Amino acid sequence: MAARIIDGKAIAAKVRAEVAEGVRELVARAGRPPGLAVVLCGDDPASQVYVKGKGKASREAGLHLVDHALSRDTTETELLRLVASLAEDPRVDGILVQLPLPPHIDEGRVLDAIPADKDVDGFHAVNVGRLWSGDERRLVSCTPAGVMRLLAESDTPLKGAEAVVVGRSNIVGKPMAALLLEADATVTVCHSKTRDLAAHIQRADVVVAAVGRPEMVRGAWIKPGATVIDVGVNRMADGRLVGDVEFSVARERAGAITPVPGGVGPMTIAHLLKNTLHAARRHTGVDIS
Ligand code: NDP
Repeated sequence: MAARIIDGKAIAAKVRAEVAEGVRELVARAGRPPGLAVVLCGDDPASQVYVKGKGKASREAGLHLVDHALSRDTTETELLRLVASLAEDPRVDGILVQLPLPPHIDEGRVLDAIPADKDVDGFHAVNVGRLWSGDERRLVSCTPAGVMRLLAESDTPLKGAEAVVVGRSNIVGKPMAALLLEADATVTVCHSKTRDLAAHIQRADVVVAAVGRPEMVRGAWIKPGATVIDVGVNRMADGRLVGDVEFSVARERAGAITPVPGGVGPMTIAHLLKNTLHAARRHTGVDIS
C-alpha cells in the first residue's frame, strides 16, 4: 500500500500560525514583537533566495525584521562589528548569518560572535552542549527540530524505535540523532564510511536521510511500514528538485514519507521563527510553556 505523504507545507503553516499567535501574545504582554536580524554577505543566488524566504515568513508572522545585505567585499572585522552591535541591540532576539560566507571570512569566528541566547540557528557550542545534555535552555538547529514535529504530526512512535540517521553534519545529522535519542529511539548514525548502509536502513522503523546525494537511499531498502524523512535537496540538471531517497519506490513500502519539495524544507523556516519567539520570550521574561 502506498505510504501516507507527510505534508510539510501544511504542518509548517500550522507552526507558523502558532508562532503568529505567540507573537501577538508577546506584544500584548511585553509591548514588543520578537526581533530577528538576518545578515547576508555577498551575492550567492541560493542564499539570496533563502534570505528572501526567511524575511517574508518573518514579516507574515509579525516579527520585527532587521535585514542587512552586505557586499561580498565586506571585511571580517566589519562583519564582526555588525554582529557585535546586533548582539547588544535589545530589539533583536535572534541573529542569523546566512552561510556560506565569502571565503576571506572565517565562518567559525563569526558564528562564535553570536551570543548563545540569540543563536536562532542553534549552532553555538553552548546550544549544542545543552541539546546533548538535555538542558531545556537551548535553541535547537531548525531542520532537525522541524523533523521532530513532522514525526509527531505523523504519529510515528519513537519510544524504543530503531531510528537510522544518514549523515552526521553539525547542522542536521548530529542534532537529529540527539533529538531522536532524547525521544527514546535507539539511534544509529550512518555516514560516508559506513560499511553496509542498506543493512542499517533495512531494520529502521524511522529513516532520516540528510546526505545531499540524489536518491542514494534506495526504495527497496525501506522496511515495510517505516517512516521516511527526506532532508536532502538536490537540484538536477533538468531543474527538478530531488531528495536523498528514491521516492517512487520508497513510497510503496513506507508507512509515511515526506516529499521533496514540500516536506522538510518548509519546516526549517517555520522553526527559525519558532526559535526567535522562544528567544524573545526569554529576553522579555514572558514565560514559556
Ligand atoms: P553535509 O554535506 O554537511 O553532510 C552530508 C553527510 O552525508 C555527511 O555526514 C557525509 O558523511 C554523509 N554522506 C556522504 N556520502 C554518503 C554516503 N555515500 N553514505 C552515507 N553517508 C554519506 O550536508 P548537510 O547535512 O548540510 O545537508 C544534507 C542534505 O540536506 C543536503 O542535500 C542539503 O541541501 C539538505 N538540507 C536541507 C535542509 C532543508 O531545510 N530541507 C536544511 C539543511 C540541509 P561524512 O561525514 O563521512 O562525510
